[in-house]
Amino acid sequence: MNSNKRHKKIGLSGHGDCRVVFCPDCGTLEIHFGASTIRTNSESLHVLSSVLNHAKVQLAQMQNASPAIDNTQQIRSGRVH
Ligand SMILES: [Zn+2]
Repeated sequence: MNSNKRHKKIGLSGHGDCRVVFCPDCGTLEIHFGASTIRTNSESLHVLSSVLNHAKVQLAQMQNASPAIDNTQQIRSGRVH
């Protein structure tokens, strides 16, 4: 706890259980996600960010690939006009 006094951490971003904290004193980035904390640096943050974005795109493509037909059928039968 005493090391936290010297290092002034700045919150960069946060949403729900996920937030990113930066310490300018030592250049450490902390990614808090639920109960987990990942200590990393800015370079790894860029890698992680692009990997997550890529995963998001891939997942969206997978989810849009097959259930698209079912969705249109549901809309057609559900809406009268
Ligand atoms: Zn620090």
